[in-house]
Amino acid sequence: MSPDASPDRPPSVDRLARALADTGLPHPLLVDAARTAVAEAMADGDPASAADRARSHAEATARALLTDVVNGTGVLLHTNLGRAPWPPPAGGQDGGHRYATLEFNLDTGDRGSRQDRAPALLARACGAEAALVVNNCASAVLLVLAALASGRGVAVSRGELVEIGGGFRIPEVMAQSGARLVEVGTTNRTRATDFASAVGDPAADVVLALAVHRSNYRIEGFTESPTTAELAALGVPLVSDIGSGLLDAACPWLDDGPPRWLDGEPAARQVLEDGAGLVTFSGDKLLGGPQAGVIAGQADLVEACAAHPLARALRPGSLVLHALQDLALAYLAREGSTIPFWQMATAPVDGLRARAERIAPNLAADTVAVPGGGTLPGVEIPSAGLIMAGDRVAELRAGPTPVVARVADDATVVDLRTVHPDDDDVVAAALAALDPAPVPTGSVPTG
Ligand SMILES: *Cc1c(COP(=O)(O)O)cnc(C)c1O
Repeated sequence: MSPDASPDRPPSVDRLARALADTGLPHPLLVDAARTAVAEAMADGDPASAADRARSHAEATARALLTDVVNGTGVLLHTNLGRAPWPPPAGGQDGGHRYATLEFNLDTGDRGSRQDRAPALLARACGAEAALVVNNCASAVLLVLAALASGRGVAVSRGELVEIGGGFRIPEVMAQSGARLVEVGTTNRTRATDFASAVGDPAADVVLALAVHRSNYRIEGFTESPTTAELAALGVPLVSDIGSGLLDAACPWLDDGPPRWLDGEPAARQVLEDGAGLVTFSGDKLLGGPQAGVIAGQADLVEACAAHPLARALRPGSLVLHALQDLALAYLAREGSTIPFWQMATAPVDGLRARAERIAPNLAADTVAVPGGGTLPGVEIPSAGLIMAGDRVAELRAGPTPVVARVADDATVVDLRTVHPDDDDVVAAALAALDPAPVPTGSVPTG
């Protein structure tokens, strides 16, 4: 008991805060924890409890910080866990900030553009004339609409007025951009002729056609949609929001070519080859990079976007551009094996099984992973991992490096497709810490 913890006097906030230094939190946050604890303890008439309360508040604060976890969910692009894992920048930005040539031209010594490197390399990797990088795909779409169609009409199929998780809704983004939505066709069937009549209607004032990838849902049954080539022939520029960021359907960066589960996913190179003026996509979906949005395509359209005042508000920082630059270089070098997302997505099931056997032979089992991240709905990827009886997810989350697992059919699944091999030891330690010890499904729990 601290000297000033008498029944009637409030304990010293400063003294309580200092006693929490071992949590590693900065002092002001410890003061907040201590202050809250003292207030609660006094309200309960129990000043002596302040120290324990302060410690649990401080520990809760530390726990709430951004921290690394092991993703055992088998969801490759898990939005809550930051979607795609990405390689740390090689050029020195991991381990501390350094000055960089963000907007500096080393040859001339003059000011350069931050859009010269990563965007140009990404354009190169998908066969675009030019590209621009912004904060995310939502801002890419907003900027394109504002720059190319403010005050004018944009034709969109009624089957593609999508909502992406987190509040990205095409009609609302359109309204914010100042462009006017011109709905075309029906929910299940839209034809090129529907677009042609909208474009031909002077009252509609259509200056742009927008195709939006149905990333997170499917329309099945009596359906029809125009091809990219048909939309590209309308006489107004076609912008295709492909969302997922697949650069090239042929996946030349993968030794074995595209995996089967990518069938039908639109890719930047092919959509541009089919005549789209621009494509927009996320950096942290199938591209496998940090959160970013890419606008790629015809140079004049990209330049119009870059010149709009919103471009400055939506521009990325050096950390993101540096990581994207290294990522684009990996794509151009066809080194898919150095891109964590592709490494995980294409790892053979045999290798995952062998890892599961090494971690816990009695729990090793085949599982099913998914792309996730609002991409490829309904697609399943054969996988392997550890399956144990009962709901153990809260216990697995409680360790020093939390392991996030999923529950299905009263069993807990740690899917190794989304676990980096370096983290197998973390998973093994988390399993070893479970009390009672995990047992396979179907066996009688002991303990
Ligand atoms: C995911 C997605 C978006 C939003 O991308 P963010 O990078 O999350 O802003 C927009 N359009 C489509 C088609 C998408 O799939």
